[in-house]
Amino acid sequence: MVWCSPCALKKMVKAMLSAVVPAYNEEIMVPRAARVIGRVLRDAEIDYEIVFVNDGSKDGTWEQIEAESRENPAVRGVCFSRNFGKEAAIMAGLAAAKGDCVVVLDCDLQHPPEKIVEMYRLWQQGYEVVEGQKSSRGKESAAHAWAARSFYSIISAAVGFDMSKASDFKLLDRKAVNVLLNMRESNAFFRALSSWIGFRTAVVPFDVQEREAGVSKWSTKALVKYAVSNITSFSTLPMQLITLLGVVVFVVSCVLGGIALVQKFTGRALGGFTTVILILLFSSSVIMISLGIIGYYIARIYEEIKGRPRYIVAKECGAEKQEEPCGEAEKVL
Ligand code: UDP
Ligand code: MG
Repeated sequence: MVWCSPCALKKMVKAMLSAVVPAYNEEIMVPRAARVIGRVLRDAEIDYEIVFVNDGSKDGTWEQIEAESRENPAVRGVCFSRNFGKEAAIMAGLAAAKGDCVVVLDCDLQHPPEKIVEMYRLWQQGYEVVEGQKSSRGKESAAHAWAARSFYSIISAAVGFDMSKASDFKLLDRKAVNVLLNMRESNAFFRALSSWIGFRTAVVPFDVQEREAGVSKWSTKALVKYAVSNITSFSTLPMQLITLLGVVVFVVSCVLGGIALVQKFTGRALGGFTTVILILLFSSSVIMISLGIIGYYIARIYEEIKGRPRYIVAKECGAEKQEEPCGEAEKVL
């Protein structure tokens, strides 16, 4: 006979799963995603809701979400006042979700919805965080793959665990969701934070699917910005590198200073103008880079201090609309 804890039993009797789907310019994918996710969960007899978050799309994404929510009472929608980025969209979805567990997946169906069932079963067994782990990265250019590898090796060092296969495709228990919602950092890096919080974790490997329609929303510039902002939100390593750089420059200047003194006292101190220029250029660029790094962190502190909401909800739709649209800060606190 299989033994079940009271908690696990409760999960089996009456539990609802919320699927949070951030969507930015995904008018073609919204109906497809709603259809496929709904079918998979109905077939598995899982009580569900789908929460689409329209991240300030410029196309008909919101109209599609509204149409879906009229047709299917399990579909709800949250609409941002402008584009706030995927991380903010995920947090808004988590805040709106009412389920006992919440799965986050991309609207373009690159995260296979069939895997949700496997994740849900693991949750029923008592796992509180079920991570989708990329077993392959799908098709991408060599430059993109190299950039992604570099980013993940830096962020893995910063976070303290291997992030190279991490994705945003995760199922979280209500407990873990509440912990994430109570984190006040304005730059929440969902993928890393959801691992950082701990809890009983299981891993489900998946192959990244081809995007069914539309294009990736990430330009190289956006990816670099995303990487820098996430590395600095998790690590002060760049600032510590400045100290290291300072020590290296100090050692080099001691050696060169020694040489200069010897030359002076032996009467060979003429010339050396090129060296002076090189040292000047080198040290001033080191100082400027250092100031830049420190300035970046100060800017981040400034951002956090302002305490602006991570996103602004303009409207919502679906079976049980929230009373008044409001900024996230009011809702979560
Ligand atoms: N997305 C979003 N806001 C953005 C950019 C993307 O909500 O500013 C959503 C997008 O609609 C999709 C998911 O995030 O559901 C992943 O985006 P995309 O497929 O463009 O990224 P990729 O798969 O290329 O990493
Ligand atoms: Mg995608």
